[in-house]
Amino acid sequence: MSSACAVYLVTHERAARNDEPDVSLMSKESAKAVPRAPLSASTPSAAEPAAAFAVRQAPVERTFAAAAQSIGVDAGTTAILSRAFGGELDLSRDLKPGDRVSAVFDTSNDGGKDVSGEPLAVRIVRGTTAHDVFLHKDLHGRASYYSKDGVSTGPTFERYPLDFTRVSSGFSLRRFDPVLHRWQSHDGVDLAAPAGTPVHATARGVIRFIGRKRGYGNVVVIQNPAPYSTTFAHLSHFAKGLRAGSRVLRNQVIGYVGKTGWATGPHLHFEVHVDHVPQDPLKVELPQKTSLAADELDRFESRVAQLTGLL
Ligand SMILES: [Zn+2]
Repeated sequence: MSSACAVYLVTHERAARNDEPDVSLMSKESAKAVPRAPLSASTPSAAEPAAAFAVRQAPVERTFAAAAQSIGVDAGTTAILSRAFGGELDLSRDLKPGDRVSAVFDTSNDGGKDVSGEPLAVRIVRGTTAHDVFLHKDLHGRASYYSKDGVSTGPTFERYPLDFTRVSSGFSLRRFDPVLHRWQSHDGVDLAAPAGTPVHATARGVIRFIGRKRGYGNVVVIQNPAPYSTTFAHLSHFAKGLRAGSRVLRNQVIGYVGKTGWATGPHLHFEVHVDHVPQDPLKVELPQKTSLAADELDRFESRVAQLTGLL
């Protein structure tokens, strides 16, 4: 029997726009220390110019972006860094006055006068914890920031929010609904599973809605790192302690499979929205972790060791 799902455009509620300020704290302009620390490369070669570095730091007073730009990080790189740190930190909530941003710039090509807007390493010190990322450029020269062990940074997503037995209804822009006997779009997928099966958040986020809603029944809507949001419908009940505004981690249990709302059997109706537009959850491109290839990793790790000492 098909576990028909009846979640329609008519009851469909777009995840609220994320109205939170980008970051809640304000940054001061001053870059404190600007020591120049010429170091010899770990594998010196006569052909290579001596490496020279500048280290700059600033307290976070309002936003990470303002602090980063005050020490010379360009706007494009600031955006890349915001995503890089977004895997571990919610920059709009986690930073407090007194936290600190520091960065190491390569000054070997500019006589030490200016620093490029693209730091080799960046550290956020939050309370007593340091979060570090390190620049790596791919063959096309695209900059990414990796953790010290060579793993990509940034938020990551799981594809599936539960152990399910089968896809009982796929994503479609137009399908005939067996309950209402009408053609409707199906903005997600139906994943059949026994009632009571735990449902997990597929990525870090903030709960935008948790409660009952017509066709959806008991539903949770999570605002994940932009541009993603996810919806979990027909739940039998919710995990304890969750409410609108609660923060959830990837793989955290948020509720349990049921058949509340317009559902003829137990299943999870699962939606993934990108920029507020529903996409096929089974196919949509999701940020995943990648690791540097072995041949790049040695060089990367020796540079990390050198730069970490400067942060
Ligand atoms: Zn459905």
